[in-house]
Order: sequence, then structure tokens, then C-alpha cells
Amino acid sequence: MNLPSNLLPAYSLSQRNTLGFEVEAEFAIHITEAKQIAETLVYAKDHNMPYQVLGGGSNVVLPSALPGLTLLMDIAGIEIVSEDANGVSLKVGAGVSWHSLVIWTLEHSYPGLENLALIPGTVGAAPIQNIGAYGVEINDYINSVEAFDSQAMQWITLDRAHCQFSYRHSLFKANPLRYIISAVNLYLPKQWQPRISYVDLQHFFAGKENDSITPLAIFEAVCEIRTQKLPDPKQIGNVGSFFQNPIVENSMLAKLKQRHPAIVAYPEDTNHSKLAAGWLIDHCGFKGLRTGNVGVHDKQALVLIHHGGGNANELLQLAERIQKTISEQFEIDLQVEPIIFNA
Ligand SMILES: Cc1cc2nc3c(=O)[nH]c(=O)nc-3n(C[C@H](O)[C@H](O)[C@H](O)COP(=O)(O)OP(=O)(O)OC[C@H]3O[C@@H](n4cnc5c(N)ncnc54)[C@H](O)[C@@H]3O)c2cc1C
Repeated sequence: MNLPSNLLPAYSLSQRNTLGFEVEAEFAIHITEAKQIAETLVYAKDHNMPYQVLGGGSNVVLPSALPGLTLLMDIAGIEIVSEDANGVSLKVGAGVSWHSLVIWTLEHSYPGLENLALIPGTVGAAPIQNIGAYGVEINDYINSVEAFDSQAMQWITLDRAHCQFSYRHSLFKANPLRYIISAVNLYLPKQWQPRISYVDLQHFFAGKENDSITPLAIFEAVCEIRTQKLPDPKQIGNVGSFFQNPIVENSMLAKLKQRHPAIVAYPEDTNHSKLAAGWLIDHCGFKGLRTGNVGVHDKQALVLIHHGGGNANELLQLAERIQKTISEQFEIDLQVEPIIFNA
């Protein structure tokens, strides 16, 4: 196997992590075709090298040096597999930018993904944490996921039911590095209804009849709201929400409300509610805090930021401090959302 010719030694990932940390991969390889995944993993195993997988780097905290092989997932291509009056099936390469896929679907009059506009990163990473925003999760549209199973060393197609999707979670997240996703198969039904129950969208479209709201109008609304609320990683390093919104039993919420009447929560199911982690962090006085080269965003307390010159250790120390305070104040364990890579 003549793989080593396209291995890139001492490869800088500073432009490939939205926190903007200085990171060097011992070796990197651009994966532009599915078959390279299997070849690279065989090579890594034969040479006893650790490996990791990177999409756009918008949901990872990377150490300064990444040992072994880093697979840069750059597989392109959006293919219409089938289409009829009911809907369209698409096969999308893992390296396609998520937001450009959303734009492509709208340009081709395939609505459905508009609420998920402007989420950074790649299509291949979307199933990992079952990306979601503004009342929609990607699992609503996933038919199946094509991946190389690095444990069985074979290709596998997992249908939606086998992907074990839940809030910011999936089979893939539960088994880090086992499944390397080459493509995601989506089904977008043609029957469409606007989903604007999320409070920001409700406000945006207040007074409008549902019939007059188009997918493009929702796309533009989501882009506008996100641009106002979330820091642009090109301006300031971040990975979006740093913590998941905790899901608690309604009895726990009732107890919390007695002590904190203003606590923000949304119904999750009949017995559970989702707490706004940003409110908890803000309430503990962290919003706008800066410590060294890292801090908490001054408009959205759920977003930790990197001002430049910092590293993963600094950011994780701040995250721990926030977790400890929230645990002491509310008896709630905040879960970190991005994936922390080991050095
Ligand atoms: C400003 C901002 C806003 C955001 N808003 C949202 C939001 O609204 N909703 C939301 O859900 N997320 C949000 N995110 C998080 C992030 O955009 C998503 O999690 C996105 O799917 C990550 O894609 P990526 O390609 O950058 O993945 P990466 O960060 O490169 O990787 C994330 C994880 O997926 C793994 N991975 C990546 N590609 C593959 C592959 N092909 N096969 C197997 N494993 C893979 C990596 O190993 C890593 O464990 C936001 C991030 C930012 C910076």
C-alpha cells in the first residue's frame, strides 16, 4: 500500500478548529474518497498508530499536539438518489459543508433543513451529536448513515433506528472512533409545514399567517437570529454551546422554581423539562467573564470563547469552574457538549 505519500507530517490544524487553538497533527491525511478511510485505518493499525477524525473542527477541543494520524474528512458530493411526488432521497458526502447543503436543498426546492441553517461543520459530523436547532434535529431527516466500522474492519450502512439518536447524542457519539462516516443518506418529504414554535421564531413571525411563511423566510430568519446571538468563530474562537441543556424531572424543576422563580425551562416530554443552561451560567455571574485567554461570551453565557493565545487546558479549567459552581448552586451536573480530544 503506497499510502504514506499523501500523509502530511507536522500538519497545522489552527485553521481547522473553530476555537482557533494552535494545534499540530503528527500526521494528517485528506480523505476525499470513501475507500481511503479503510486504507488509512489498515495503515494505522499495521503501524500501531493512534488516529482521530476531524470534520470542520467546530465541535472539538483539541490539544496542542495530536499524536498519530488525523483523518480530515473532505469527501464531497450531493447526489439525488431518487425522487417522486412524496419526497427526495439524497446521498451526501461526509465532507460537504452543512450550511452549503442547507442552501443547496432550498435552491432545489427541497425544504426541511431551513431551521438548521448556519450550523458550522460538515455533513459527516451532523449525525454524531444529532445536530439540532430551532426545534428541529437532523435525525428527523436521516434515512441511513454509511460508515466504516473500525472494530469489525468492514463497511456498514446503519438505518435511522440503529443510530440511537437522542438529544445531542447517537450511537456514534457513544462509540467514539468506531464508525467513520463516509456519507449520510437523507430523505426530505415534499409535504412541508413551517416549524416556528421555538420562541425566537415565534417572535420573528408574530402576526403572520402560517400559510404565508416560506422555507426561505425561515432560513433567513434563522440566519438573522443566529448572527445576532452567536459569536462568529471567524471573529472569536468558539464551538457554539459548550454545555448541553440539562434535562430534569418535572419534580426537580418544581423544587428549583421555589428557590429560583425566574429559572428558564421548556417542556421535554410529559415527565421531563429542559433547563436553559445559559440561564444557570448567567445566574451564577459568569456571563462576560474573562480569565486569561478564555472567557464566557457576553451575550450568550452558554458559549465559551477563546480570545487568542490560549489552549485547551485553559478552556477546560474554566469549564470545570462553571460546572462546579452550577453543581453547588443547583445540584445539576452540566455535561460538556464538544468532544475533548486527548493529547
Ligand atoms: C458558532 C457555532 C454554532 C453552533 N451551533 C450549533 C447548533 O445550533 N446545533 C448543534 O447541534 N451544534 C452546533 N454547533 C456545533 C457544531 O457545529 C456541530 O456539532 C457540527 O456538527 C460539528 O461538525 P464538524 O464537521 O465541525 O465536526 P468536528 O468538530 O470536526 O467533529 C465533531 C466530532 O465528530 C467526529 N467526526 C467528524 N466527522 C466525522 C466523520 N465523518 N465520521 C466520524 N466521526 C466524525 C469528530 O471525531 C468529533 O468527535 C455550533 C458550533 C459553532 C462553532
